[in-house]
Amino acid sequence: MIIFITFFVSTFTEQDQSLCQKLGDKEWAKKVYKKVESKTKNSNEVNDLAKSLLEIFGDAEWSGKLLTSNNLPPLEKDVAVKKVIKKTYRVFYYFEFSPDKHFGVDRKKCKCGICPKKIIRKEDDLYVSDGDSYNNDEDGNESLVKDVDTAYDYLMSKYEGDNFDNYGYFDEETNNPNGNDESEFSDGFGDEELNIFKIEVLDHESEKIIETHNM
Ligand SMILES: [Zn+2]
Repeated sequence: MIIFITFFVSTFTEQDQSLCQKLGDKEWAKKVYKKVESKTKNSNEVNDLAKSLLEIFGDAEWSGKLLTSNNLPPLEKDVAVKKVIKKTYRVFYYFEFSPDKHFGVDRKKCKCGICPKKIIRKEDDLYVSDGDSYNNDEDGNESLVKDVDTAYDYLMSKYEGDNFDNYGYFDEETNNPNGNDESEFSDGFGDEELNIFKIEVLDHESEKIIETHNM
């Protein structure tokens, strides 16, 4: 039986799993697993299968049910909380700028439609993934992205770092409404602020959205 499970696990992990994810056809894969489940006999086998369900499908509910229905304790915490599926985080943010001049003229003369009174806001997003590293403090200690909070910290730490270049994080408007050759922020950004307002969690492989966090 162990061999049987191992066979399926290795097969799914390497080829069929990615195929399944591409086809979005986990249901089919689950059917095969259900068959294995119905044939498991002893507690070690059930435990192995529960781990596989979690590792391959990230299906904590199913693996949990399998264990409780066989009167087995839940998986050890380090197994259960292990990042079994690599995740990508789409970090949505906007900058707020208040320069004195916009597109080369005083803001009260700017014809962009936002000036003179409204805050100039530039929205964009950034993808980071589990395992991406960033410096999270003044001593340059390295941290790794592993969840929503660290994905947030990843961008914030870059923003607060010395080498941050705003231009790498949003697109400047190239259509100058004032009829001169200046770029949108040729006179600087003035007071500025970065706000992260949403983070989507995606399956790294399939790029499907797993959950959305409004910040
Ligand atoms: Zn303007």
